[in-house]
Amino acid sequence: MRMAEVTGTCLCGGVRFEVTEPFERVAACHCTSCKKIGGGGGTVSGRVRTEAVRVLAGEELVKTYQPEEGLAKTFCSECGSNLFGAAWPESEHTSVRLSALDPPYEGRIESHIFVRSLAPWEVLPDDGAERFEVRGT
Ligand SMILES: [Zn+2]
Ligand SMILES: [Zn+2]
Repeated sequence: MRMAEVTGTCLCGGVRFEVTEPFERVAACHCTSCKKIGGGGGTVSGRVRTEAVRVLAGEELVKTYQPEEGLAKTFCSECGSNLFGAAWPESEHTSVRLSALDPPYEGRIESHIFVRSLAPWEVLPDDGAERFEVRGT
């Protein structure tokens, strides 16, 4: 069995999960849905194959919401922490929210996506990451 590459929890600690493969890519999504669920400029997620994501505890708390536009988002129904995106667990790939990882992820953001939806109060950092009007490549 593969060792966990990273581990994560929600704010209340009810949900624990692990990711058993390195992230293929890390992107900050600035879309309007991610702002609503993320409580800030959006979400920052690492992309992995869905089968590399394993919920270790609190499966009964894990809830998935399908917005009218975009892919389903998954969160803890007790504390509201944002956990996964990209239609987990049905999709081939999952976006794991870096905000849920502990210890914090050490890598960098490689792309900013949906920058057309930047809020007036948002300023993109000068981090050298690629920018995409909508979805990245
Ligand atoms: Zn929770
Ligand atoms: Zn988004």
